[in-house]
Amino acid sequence: MGYEETWRRSVDEPEAFWAEQATLIDWHTPPRTILDDANPPFRRWFVGGTTNLCHNAVDRHLRVRGDQLAIVAVSTETNVTREISYRELHREVNAFAATLVELGVGKGDRVVIYLPNVAEAVFAMLACARIGAIHSVVFGGFAAHNLALRIDDAEPKLLVCADAGMRGGKVIPYKPLVDAALDESRCPPPHVLIVDRGLDPGMKTRPGRDVDYASLRERHLDATVPIVWLESNEPSYLLYTSGTTGRPKGVQRDVGGYAVALALSMTAIFDLPPGQTILCTSDVGWAVGHSYNVYGPLIGGCTAILYEGLPTHPDPGIWWRLCETYGARTMFSSPTALRILKKQDEAWLKKHDLSALKWIFVAGEPLDRPTYDWLTQGTGKTVIDNYWQTETGWPALSLMPGLDLKPVKPGSPGFPTFGYRMRVIDEATGEDKAPGEKGVLVIEPPLPPGCLGTIWRDDERYVRSYFGHFKELLYSSLDWAVRDADGYVFILGRTDDVINVAGHRLGTREIEESVATLGAVAEVAVVGVADELKGQVPVVFATLRQGVADHPVDVAHAMERRVVELLGGLARPACVYVVAALPKTRSGKLLRRSLQALVQGSDPGDLSTLDDPGALEEIRRVLVRGPHCGARRA
Ligand code: AMP
Repeated sequence: MGYEETWRRSVDEPEAFWAEQATLIDWHTPPRTILDDANPPFRRWFVGGTTNLCHNAVDRHLRVRGDQLAIVAVSTETNVTREISYRELHREVNAFAATLVELGVGKGDRVVIYLPNVAEAVFAMLACARIGAIHSVVFGGFAAHNLALRIDDAEPKLLVCADAGMRGGKVIPYKPLVDAALDESRCPPPHVLIVDRGLDPGMKTRPGRDVDYASLRERHLDATVPIVWLESNEPSYLLYTSGTTGRPKGVQRDVGGYAVALALSMTAIFDLPPGQTILCTSDVGWAVGHSYNVYGPLIGGCTAILYEGLPTHPDPGIWWRLCETYGARTMFSSPTALRILKKQDEAWLKKHDLSALKWIFVAGEPLDRPTYDWLTQGTGKTVIDNYWQTETGWPALSLMPGLDLKPVKPGSPGFPTFGYRMRVIDEATGEDKAPGEKGVLVIEPPLPPGCLGTIWRDDERYVRSYFGHFKELLYSSLDWAVRDADGYVFILGRTDDVINVAGHRLGTREIEESVATLGAVAEVAVVGVADELKGQVPVVFATLRQGVADHPVDVAHAMERRVVELLGGLARPACVYVVAALPKTRSGKLLRRSLQALVQGSDPGDLSTLDDPGALEEIRRVLVRGPHCGARRA
């Protein structure tokens, strides 16, 4: 069956379609009902079925693939490569699970994992899944305050961390960040389990609270921890993502639907039959990392390469070398990472034998034409853009080489994948847009298996944030899109105040709230501005309180420091402008879009509602003079 027929069946006969796909995984008890859609927009897939992600990712492969590599964890920071077979993975996961049990973690308890891209992150995730605990991996680049917010929302029984990460040869201590986050947190967990990599000899521990993993691992290396079977719709993990307010949203994933969707995506989208290898350059802290560094490849019986390090170290051929060494068939990366490689000598693309590599998938942000051309021409491979969100958990738009590869149209992530009935509609009227017209991308419920079930402990916010935008009950992905006459969808950026920095989502509101914690700041507006390398970067405009206005440069630097301190380096403003007034409408609404246009040198739009036209003129002058902190952008 080709793409059209398969997709049509997935949306017109969802129960029959997904009942067939359910056989891709092992069930302890088969599902009673394939889809319960009685309470939209909530829906439940594979109701009554019991299964387990760890069983499907590890145990069920032992008989046939015990000696096959499951994970290859490569660190070009510590110069350590660990090749871990499915049998060894089983042993490590059991040891980790026994440790969790010893520390009092059980079914339904949350475990926050704050680890770099190392094998222990995979062991910890799978160990949680094994015993029915809910993991919440927090990206290692997040600062203490961000970590504290996530801890307070998840209320974990345990936090797992490393002594340190490393980036570009520099040790980044994690433990002091954890200590600061726990000091700030309202409900710190009773224990912190430390994976000590020996990178931070000066690491301080708190007796009674902090536990060293190495000694517990030793004790539990031959443990067998029974699988805890979960009903398909019970939570497997939380993954926090930025919204338009400072409070992160805990995207809640289920068990059965997620496993089935990933299993199907591995073959149909990523063209990875069991036994094949994928190099996914994401971090386990992101959605792509959860799905295609860990669960997808392992559920699919594949080998996953996990990478800690820069794409350019020890040389810009490192990723291609890994593809060659392990015979990767599919590579999955982000436009930002590839733009970094594009700045290097093109010869690196030709240095390694890439005969096993068939597909290069990219996701997370728009793939620009020059990067697409450079990559296709340099490698001779098919480059496949795919679109998704933390919420969807797997690609929502993609071409599907494992099923029926349609021609690539550069700039488009292709067509809806299975179970996604998408429309492009008018922002105001909700009417469908004609081909070629810009509108808002929406998904008709029920959302397919694998997508979020709700926001952790906040059903109301789930309904409001995703389904509350139109008269009809439609999931809004909050992206502008256009569909061409052939049905290819093109994504044109976000409709909300979220910006995409190097493929990572940041709420401008979060950054504003951080800047506003400085007493010297009166008012602040943050906008995302186009950047050649990172896609977008945050730019801060602020007005100061009286009395400090004489020291704009000092305050601008303090703003930058505060953002990094509270949100991490990812959110570091590219520049800070101190201005006399921010542009507002007469009703007091900040005109962020006009500010963004001014910085980018484009049309600031309809200014008829502007309260003080002089404010924009002043901002134009400030832009010409240059920022008070950071590099000039104008
Ligand atoms: P996140 O949940 O952090 O992965 O961010 C999801 C957002 O990233 C989407 O809503 C889009 O705005 C953007 N995005 C993801 N993939 C693509 C893509 N292939 N092309 C354009 N934008 C993308």
